[in-house]
Amino acid sequence: MKALLMKEYKKLEYADVPDPKISGAKDILVKVKAVSVCGSDVHGFDGSTGRRKPPVIMGHEAAGVVENAGSGVTLFKKGDRITFDSTIWCGECFFCRNGDVNLCDNRRVLGVSCDEYVQDGCFAEYVVVPERICFKLPDDLSFEDASLTEPAAVAAHAVRQTPVALNETVAVVGAGLIGLLAIQILRASGCGLVIALDTDAAHRKAALLAGACAEADPADADLLKKIAALTNGRGVDRTLEAVGAAASIKTAVAITRKGGSVTLIGNISPTIELPLQQVVTRQLRLQGTCAIAGEYPLVLDMMARKKINARSIISRVAPLSEGQIWFDKLYNRQDNLLKVVLAP
Ligand SMILES: [Zn+2]
Ligand SMILES: [Zn+2]
Repeated sequence: MKALLMKEYKKLEYADVPDPKISGAKDILVKVKAVSVCGSDVHGFDGSTGRRKPPVIMGHEAAGVVENAGSGVTLFKKGDRITFDSTIWCGECFFCRNGDVNLCDNRRVLGVSCDEYVQDGCFAEYVVVPERICFKLPDDLSFEDASLTEPAAVAAHAVRQTPVALNETVAVVGAGLIGLLAIQILRASGCGLVIALDTDAAHRKAALLAGACAEADPADADLLKKIAALTNGRGVDRTLEAVGAAASIKTAVAITRKGGSVTLIGNISPTIELPLQQVVTRQLRLQGTCAIAGEYPLVLDMMARKKINARSIISRVAPLSEGQIWFDKLYNRQDNLLKVVLAP
């Protein structure tokens, strides 16, 4: 089959590679129809994260058609349109049995190559995945839109980790892809005012289009005054932080009201300096959130009912053979691209 093989850092070759084979009775061979490029692929592409060691086929946000199924597969048949979790979880460890499949002790992420394992991903014509991580697509959801189920589910999981009550004010710091999807999901979730913060004016504009009620620039010297004016002088009830750097986390803490909470999604920096005294004396709750645990069905339903508009976030659909061109553009932050979807 053809695949986008990363032979060395920053070098992607549209190459012939051996077809993946069904090895277990519960495996499904998927013909990939659309696969979107994740920020983690772009960050991994230069070796900085250590999670995409070449040679590897990256890609974990995909949708396609069942081409073949092992003898023990009961829920899917050839021709079914499906998507699947980015994480292959074991289903047997303490965490999986507890329902926390995102925390699985034996998790392997598709398209990741690190010290512990190599799991080729979806920038290819075919990929093999176990039945337990697969989900059928609603009839009228396109493969391109469905390739955004994974990041939308990441955003939905983050919203579910946030104790947001009816009509509470929520801020989203970082209006990149996950931030924009979180805004759409929050708007459908009964919260009140949604405020988007981003240093990039184009991102702030995109946030308003995604449904944010107000926007602010974290670099604005009057930021706290502006937030106070929007929140009866208190600060926001809940904040979602989708960057993961010292400055943005400082912003998130500063704008949150006493007794409020900050949900931490981004982790660009592995360690940061934390404004500890503000967190402690204002009794803030910091909550980490990771990946997806059970959000696929609800996200697919929200996409089918247009509560999540994936299409609004896709900048470009391009052939998989052009992978190098689009990775280079994303890496060099050209053309203000949000999501690029590649089609094998
Ligand atoms: Zn991703
Ligand atoms: Zn497990």
